[in-house]
Formats: sequence, C-alpha cells, structure tokens
Amino acid sequence: MTKFTDLGLDQSLIDAVNDLGFEKPSEVQEKAIPILLENESDLVALAQTGTGKTAAFGFPLIQKIDSDSRTTQGLILSPTRELCLQITNELKLYSKYEKNINVVAIYGGASITDQARQIKRGAQIVVATPGRMKDMISRGLVNITKIDYCVLDEADEMLNMGFFEDIKDILSNTPDEKSTWLFSATMPREVSIIAKKFMHSPQEITVGAKNSGASTVQHEYYQVSGRDRYPALKRLADTNPGIFSVVFCRTKRDTQRVAEMLIEDGYNAGALHGDLSQNQRDLVMNSFRKKQIQMLVATDVAARGIDVDDVTHVINFQLPDEIETYTHRSGRTGRAGKSGISMVLVTRSEIRKIRAIENKINQKFILKTVPTGKDICEIQLQHLANKIKNTEINDEIESHLPAINEILADVDREELIKKIVSAEFTRFFNYYNKAKDLNSGGGRERNERGERGGEVPTSGSVRYFINVGEKDGYDWMSLKDFIRDTVQLGKEDVFKVDCKESFSFFNTDAAVTEQILSTFTEFKVDGRFVNVEVSKNPGGGSRRGGGRRNGSGGGRGRDRDRGRDGGRGRRSNSNSSQGGGGTFSGKRRSKRRNTDFF
Ligand code: AMP
Repeated sequence: MTKFTDLGLDQSLIDAVNDLGFEKPSEVQEKAIPILLENESDLVALAQTGTGKTAAFGFPLIQKIDSDSRTTQGLILSPTRELCLQITNELKLYSKYEKNINVVAIYGGASITDQARQIKRGAQIVVATPGRMKDMISRGLVNITKIDYCVLDEADEMLNMGFFEDIKDILSNTPDEKSTWLFSATMPREVSIIAKKFMHSPQEITVGAKNSGASTVQHEYYQVSGRDRYPALKRLADTNPGIFSVVFCRTKRDTQRVAEMLIEDGYNAGALHGDLSQNQRDLVMNSFRKKQIQMLVATDVAARGIDVDDVTHVINFQLPDEIETYTHRSGRTGRAGKSGISMVLVTRSEIRKIRAIENKINQKFILKTVPTGKDICEIQLQHLANKIKNTEINDEIESHLPAINEILADVDREELIKKIVSAEFTRFFNYYNKAKDLNSGGGRERNERGERGGEVPTSGSVRYFINVGEKDGYDWMSLKDFIRDTVQLGKEDVFKVDCKESFSFFNTDAAVTEQILSTFTEFKVDGRFVNVEVSKNPGGGSRRGGGRRNGSGGGRGRDRDRGRDGGRGRRSNSNSSQGGGGTFSGKRRSKRRNTDFF
C-alpha cells in the first residue's frame, strides 16, 4: 500500500496530511503527485470531483512554490465561485505548516477592490474563475506573466459554461514555458483542443475508466409518465428515510417549484439556482452542509460547486441535455470513497438517452420500479420502529411520568405500541393507502383514477382533448400549428383538429402520445394553463362542457409563438384522489400536503 510518505512530499505537507486525517493517498494523488513533483511537464488528468484531485495538484504546487518570493507563481482556474473558495480553503489547510504562502481567491459577485488589495499584498497562488480573472487582467489588477504553474480544474465544466474564449485569453497572458496541469472529469472535444493548443506533450493519467462515472455510484432509472415525476420523486424520498440528496432539474423555475412543493409537502428541502442572491445561496448551502436540508433541489450550474461528501442519492428529476452533465451530476454522490446512488426519472421516450449515457459512462443502469404505497408504508413503519428503539430517553420526562402512567394505566404493552406507531403513521398510511402504480406501462390504477381519461394508448391513432378553442383565438388551422410547433412535431403529425368554442380535439399517432402529454404537463400560455388529455370519447363528440378545472385556459392565436417559452407553469390537476381536487394557478395554490402535482 502506497503511503503519503512514499510520494516525495516535504514533512510540512505530511504533517498537514496527518492533521487532515487522510490515511492513504487516493488513486489520483498516488498517480499525479510523483509526476508533478519530479518533472516540470504538463499533465492531463481525467478525474472526477470527489477523487481527491485538489490535493493531487495542491500538494505539488505548494511544495514547488518559492515562498520567499511574493510574485504570483501559480494560477488555478476553476468554473465557479464555490469551487474557487473550496480549492482556496483546501490549499490553506494543506499549506498550514508552510511559512508565508498566500493563497487568494478571486471570483465574481464580490468586491474586486478587496480582491485586488489581497493580490497586491503578495499572492503566490491565485485561484480564480475565468470571468473575474479576465476582468482583473484587463484592469491591470493582477500579474500572471511570471507564473510557473497553471492548473485548469474541472476543465470540461469551464468549457461547458462557455469560458473557452476567456481561458484562451488568460492563457495568452501567461509564459509559454510554464507547466499546465489540466484536470477534467470527461474529455469532450473542446478540452482536447485546449490541451493540444496550450500544452506540450502532456503526461496523461486516468482515474477509473476513461470518461466513466465513479464506480462507487450505482445508476438506476425509473420509468414514469411525465406528469408523475413529482409523486415519484416523493416516493423515492419516502423509501429512503435517511436520504441526503441533490435533486437536479433542468430550469431555475422547475428547481424553485419542485423545492417549494417538497417543502409544502413536509420534506426538508431547499432550492439552489442562479436567481437566488449569493446570500440566499450561502444560507441554503449552509443548511445543506448541516443536513438540515435533506433534499437540495438544484440546477446544474448552481450545483457545480457543491463540495459535500456524503450525499447518498443524486436524483435526476429531469435528464440533462448533455451526457457530460449527467456525469457531473452523478459525481455529486459516491465521493471520497463512499458509495452512492444516482436515480433518473424518465418517460418512455427518454429511454434512448439512458442507453446513450450507458455507452458513454461504460456502466449499466438498473431499471427499478417506483415503490408502491404498500412498500413505502412498510419501510416507513420499520424506520419508525427503529427510530423509537434508538431514541435516547430524555431525562426531563421522568418528572412527568406519574401523570403519563396514570393516563396510560389501562393500555397494555401491545396496544401501547400499536397506538404509538399509529399516532405517527396514520397520516402517512392514509396518503399511500390505495395510491396508484406510478411505473409507466404498469399503470393499472390509472383508469380507476381517470387521470387521463384512460390508459395511454400505445398504437394506432389517439384523440385528445385540449382546453383551448375559438374563444381563445384559434381556428382548426392555427391550433394545429400551435400544437405542432409546441411539441415539435412534423407537418402531418397532428390531424382531425376539431376546434369548438372553448375546447377542441385533435389526433396524433400513438407513437407521440407520451411526447404530447409530457409537453402539455404544467404548460402555461399567457399565465393560463393549457391542458391536454387523451379523450375518453374517441369520436370527439361533445364532452363535459370543456369541464377542465381551469376552464378555458390558454393562449390566443397571437401568443402562439410564446407557447414553448411561456414555460411549464402550474395547472390545476385532476389527479386528486389523495388530496381533494383543489384548483390552483400561479402562486395561489391550495395548501395541501402530500398531493401529487406533476
Ligand atoms: P476533491 O476531489 O479534491 O474535491 O476531494 C474530495 C474530498 O476528499 C475533499 O473533502 C478532501 O478533503 C477529501 N480527500 C482528499 N484526499 C483525501 C485522502 N487521501 N483521503 C481522504 N480524504 C481525502
């Protein structure tokens, strides 16, 4: 077994390692540290976050810096403020026994004057986000023309975030003869371009398989219909009572909404996205670190700097567009040698994306079924029993015991247990009792609830009801265009459009039914909900007077182009067997707990 003392590190760094409690070097450290200490060569390291890569470049960098000189000798570029601060803090810990080493973080959203002042005092190592770095170079507030080492950390993320030009500009301000160390979880084309353009015969190391996700992560997917994502998310949380998770959504808006709904439904959740102020984000992250938040709902960009080691689950509420992004998401769990689970909620039409990810990460996904209400009740009961068993007795209760004993005098042990469990459990049981099967394809209870007017057809032509009509400014032609454009279908894909006064019908092939239904889930135009359901009446005759809960929502013809951007707002939901069918729109939502919205 390789030890830290075998890697060629100075005693001062070994002392810091001991203080940090690192017992042995991680794979990336074992591979990178000797190379970086012995040579002045460039390095490309394929390593995920959580593998210990900060120390892999941090230790050699600190050892090689001349602490007697105040010149900036090392530059570390990283994608986000959070990561920048995290690296800076780690480097400070690693260099605690070095005299006079100054590490300064520079990043956007904080005072540039303060940062310039810190640099001026002498910073041998600067850790920076590309945007702020470029800004400071152009204002002459930092001098990187004499650096010996440049680290590009999470290079793929920086390029994903559009920093290609900034990085090129920054590197052109640095000397040619410096060493460049590039760390990246994946190796997309742009990262190779940077490596080719700015590096000289770099040595390469790979931790785990190339382009693969961390092997400590198990990948699972759950097939649900688009509108069942939210109840499925809750079930995943409820089957894992000790969950400590990051839930990824695609947009800031969905992120906020899912977090709000979870909070209202009684979960310890919080939102993390770019529309929050830095202060709000810091508060959320602090609560998450302290585990006061068990479900952190985040956008990809906002989650980039998350440096929490013991995340048990990553939940992909929606899949990202880029496979690389999936790798980053799942890398938030299974960190520092721990195991983790990355769960994905997919609709049938997204299954092919799962296959593409499998090919890329070289790991198989396991198809799992969303637990039934009965499964969850069982798990929760066991959890409750264990919780009671392990609860430490509060001594303060002692003085109240005579009174309590008096009340419970006639209740025997068995009955008492039943009562204690019931007191905690009944609300839960009521919610999940008779809850439907959420696995798409297995939706045997869907009919009973009449959610979509029946099972989603899988073949032939399907007729739909839509809650917009002539009074919303449509005729059959413009409605056909609206549906086709919104769902991004081909010219002939929408047919038999029958535009009535306040509602309409149309047909598509069953192959696109899932796409139609998921697009029109939570879909709003001009602040009102456009609701599409499979028609119970395939002939398309009169139906219950457009009797959707929202009445005639939806856009006028002139708003058609805004359909997609108009976003997927809330709409009233008819799947209300568990919570009463309250209507809501916008922020005015009935306060219901444990009610399925998506
Ligand atoms: P990183 O990949 O640099 O984000 O590191 C992930 C986490 O692992 C950080 O919290 C480090 O403090 C921790 N870490 C780094 N190296 C080791 C090691 N050799 N043993 C245990 N933990 C480590």
